[in-house]
Amino acid sequence: MSNLGPSLEDLLPKGQNQPTGGNEEETAEFKLQEKINAITLKEKEEETARNAQVLDLPYINLVSFGISPETLTAISQDQAQKLGAVCFLNTGAEIRIGTVKYDDKIKALETELQEKFHANIATYLISQHSLNSALKLYDTLPKIRKFISGIEITEAQLKKFEAEIKNFQDLNAKIKNTSLSELMALLVAGAIKARASDIHIEAEETDIKVRYRIDGILNDAAKINKDIWPRVTSRIKQMAKLKINISDRPQDGRFPILLTNEHIDVRVSVLPTAYGESIVMRLLMSSNTAISFEELGLRGQAFAILEKEIKRPNGLIITTGPTGSGKTTTLYAILKKLNDPETKIITVEDPIEYELQGVNQSQTTKDYTFAKALKSILRQDPDIIMVGEIRDLDTAEIAIQAALTGHLVLSTIHTNDAFGAIPRFLSMGAKPFLLAPALNVSIGQRLVRKICEQCKKEIDLAPEVLERVKKTLAEIPKNSGYQVDLNKMKFYAGKGCDACQNIGFKGRIGIYEIMPITGEMEKTIVSGNLSEYDIKNMATKDGVITMAQDGLLKALDGITSVEEVFRVAE
Ligand SMILES: [Zn+2]
Repeated sequence: MSNLGPSLEDLLPKGQNQPTGGNEEETAEFKLQEKINAITLKEKEEETARNAQVLDLPYINLVSFGISPETLTAISQDQAQKLGAVCFLNTGAEIRIGTVKYDDKIKALETELQEKFHANIATYLISQHSLNSALKLYDTLPKIRKFISGIEITEAQLKKFEAEIKNFQDLNAKIKNTSLSELMALLVAGAIKARASDIHIEAEETDIKVRYRIDGILNDAAKINKDIWPRVTSRIKQMAKLKINISDRPQDGRFPILLTNEHIDVRVSVLPTAYGESIVMRLLMSSNTAISFEELGLRGQAFAILEKEIKRPNGLIITTGPTGSGKTTTLYAILKKLNDPETKIITVEDPIEYELQGVNQSQTTKDYTFAKALKSILRQDPDIIMVGEIRDLDTAEIAIQAALTGHLVLSTIHTNDAFGAIPRFLSMGAKPFLLAPALNVSIGQRLVRKICEQCKKEIDLAPEVLERVKKTLAEIPKNSGYQVDLNKMKFYAGKGCDACQNIGFKGRIGIYEIMPITGEMEKTIVSGNLSEYDIKNMATKDGVITMAQDGLLKALDGITSVEEVFRVAE
């Protein structure tokens, strides 16, 4: 069995969580008191009950109620003493407090607790004797401190665990010996250490699986005993201010972790599944900022072309690729490069992923669509506009119009590669004679994981993989600036070490195809009669290399692996 702490339910005395009653419980107390005292106390309780009736409040005797530490600390000791109020029941959905005097300060406390815990607050009138016995419980708190700290993750806990866990084996071993209150800190510390963006905790038939998303890929990290899962979910819900008693529908919440040099915003999503609830926690670190244009991974001609194109005062720059291919990262890097006090930049995004100083960022809603947003943005006289995504003709037409009337417009479009952007625009219904002069450049991209420098070693490729590599590299255009000797190629992989959680990869970089719209291509677009194949042929003639080729060149440089390139591109 685990040595985890008792749950909230365990700590609540059975059958004593009803507001009425209390007389049987008092019996034991009677025997311990001197008779005269006992009578006085009884009279006081009766008086309190009568006062409660006048005030139209419920009454309760808390003397032997048995308040759990977690419940008690909903109100701080200091506040409890000052206000003469204590929290005696907290089911998650409902919080019950007892007070000796119901006034405006208690009403303010009700509001405060309601906002803090997202629960219904019920206030009971209690006697001074009830209050005193409840206040005494605060003195017992140091002994059970670990239960209380569990609803927050502290810097000390994170530091301790980060130092203690080198890899997933350490994490797994520690999970088995960690109290419920420290489990969350342990999972978050493990995620930070592994540079994970998300923690997935999924209920399966026999146990609970913990997976970390690292560099875009989910990795099995640990297992949690199924016995404690209901208590873990309760705790996470409590932290994220979700309804603890709801488990049959999805809920979303968040909680902050405030550290000396970092603020982590943890977004929590809870989803009912066949074997219980599954939870995903996304860690948004304040230190995660948009990367620079130079750090994107663009090289050679691709870098030079894009750098030139983004400096033009008008036109449309489109990035393509599926979700998670780094499109937004590229656009942010471009905006960061173009951002200066003389330039007015407005964005409309869904959602805003990074805050950019000096840029007017807005977010779409159900009614404030990309198209509507774009129309109102144009009235603001911007120099540069970033539109999160073009997915309908309305948005496409306004974006093209804006690009033709003196604005630099950046956006994304959902196609596989750079060559697919033009056919996609045309199939939406965009006018070829407007699109052709508007479009400056189309970008295709994917993200590949970088080989861990700590454990990188040279490897041999399987013959069929080598053939595929040769075939792709042989098609690199002569005027691209790249030349590869297909008979003298070296390839690398990470064999796994503590620095990379035994994954062999650490960090990510983009692989790109940067297709500028040249004169000949513009003419062809205007004809309106062209396929993706035609566009790719024309681009190749202009020296454009594909994402796969760029990726394999990066593999030859030992930046990524061949497997990784073929996984994302082709
Ligand atoms: Zn490594």
